[in-house]
Amino acid sequence: MIDIQGVSKSYQRKTALNNATMKLEQGKIVGLLGPNGSGKTTLLRILVSELRADSGSVSIDGEKLSPALKAHISGLTTSDFMPAGMTIQEAADTYESFFNDFDMERFHQLLKEVDLSPDMKIGSLSKGMKSKYALALAISRKAKLIVLDEPLDGVDPVAREEILRLISSGFSQDSTLLVTSHLINELERLLDEVYFIRDGEIRYIGDVETIRAEKKMSLDELYREVYRR
Ligand code: ADP
Repeated sequence: MIDIQGVSKSYQRKTALNNATMKLEQGKIVGLLGPNGSGKTTLLRILVSELRADSGSVSIDGEKLSPALKAHISGLTTSDFMPAGMTIQEAADTYESFFNDFDMERFHQLLKEVDLSPDMKIGSLSKGMKSKYALALAISRKAKLIVLDEPLDGVDPVAREEILRLISSGFSQDSTLLVTSHLINELERLLDEVYFIRDGEIRYIGDVETIRAEKKMSLDELYREVYRR
């Protein structure tokens, strides 16, 4: 269980995250949905220790997030982190040398599913292909928490479908996945649970099945209803 308690973060005078609280259970795919500028990346950067929260705490299975625990979190904030001259295989070898929970076999299997091959040069990949390869790297780690920031952003509808499939087939029940999107409806099929975010305030909305059964509306519609003034 990943426990995020009262996490806040401001940049100068701008409050990007206000008292964020979330409980993420093992085996669940959790969506954090909200428009651009609402604070999603700020939270993810805190979780991968790229950024320090001003207050609040994050713990994994009861232990406070520390440099040692950081190794149990997999995340990607950009897909341009490997040199363009490398092949996908070389990038995976580099990744494997950094992270001992990286599963090369799973990575190869996922690559195959999205029609990429290990000998392709990173510099020759389209934006959609790059997103797929980077995503395959991130979800091939046997991490306790995997965070994905806007995996559908800037990719065409066909690549979107493939990315959704990639995430659902690569996800292991031993892990927890937190995925953000400003495309509120697009991730719905993938998600077990949903949180909404607006102006740095996170709200737990519920599990997707219950929402579907009880509300009978799309997440977009629900988002608008929740924030109706
Ligand atoms: P999202 O990922 O939902 O688009 P962000 O977490 O990137 O949102 O940003 C939340 C708010 O914090 C926005 O208003 C953004 O302009 C602001 N912000 C983000 N990063 C910085 C920064 N490094 N310096 C100042 N303001 C920032």
